[in-house]
Amino acid sequence: MRQRVVIAMALALEPSLVIMDEPTTALDVVVQNGIIKKVMELQQKFGFSVLFITHDLPLMLEMCDRIGVMYAGKLVEVAGRGELLKGAQHPYTQGLLGAFPALTGPKIKLEGIPGSPPDLISPPPGCRFAPRCKHAMPQCHTAEPAGQTGRSKYVACHLYTEGEIAHEQVSAGSERAQ
Ligand code: SF4
Repeated sequence: MRQRVVIAMALALEPSLVIMDEPTTALDVVVQNGIIKKVMELQQKFGFSVLFITHDLPLMLEMCDRIGVMYAGKLVEVAGRGELLKGAQHPYTQGLLGAFPALTGPKIKLEGIPGSPPDLISPPPGCRFAPRCKHAMPQCHTAEPAGQTGRSKYVACHLYTEGEIAHEQVSAGSERAQ
C-alpha cells in the first residue's frame, strides 16, 4: 500500500516523466502484477513516460518499449524490446536472458553467468565484464570497448569491432539465450 501511495504522490503533479527505481522490489508477484498493471493503465490515460530501473529483465521485456542494460555502472546494450527478444547482442545481456527459465516448452539446462560483479572502487581494466565473459579476447582485458550504434541499437563489446566471425559467435549465443 505504501508503494501505491508513493506512486499516487508521484503522479499528482501530472509529470511528463516518472522515474521508478525498483518500484516492486520485495513485493510478491501478485501484488507486483497489480501495481504494474495500474501504472500502465495510468500511463495510457495520462500519457506520461516511465523510466523503469530494475534487475527484473523479464518484467522489462513485458512492459518496456526500449531497454538499456547496464553492467558495473556502464551501459552495455540498448535495444527495443522486440530486438532483445529476437537476439540480444552483448554477452552479458545474453547471459541474463539465458538465466531465466521459460514457463513453457521443453526443459533446458540454464547456463547462468559465472563469477561475481567487480569491485567498483577498483574495476578491472578494459571491459568490466571480461572476467566473466566466455567470449573474452586479449584486448577485452586492456581496452574499454567503444559503443557501436546501429539504427536503433547500441552495444559496447569488442566482438562488434572484430569482423564477421566474431559477430557470428555472438549471434549463436543469442539464439541459445532465447
Ligand atoms: S568486450 Fe570482450 S569481454 Fe566484454 S563483453 Fe565483449 S567479448 Fe566479452
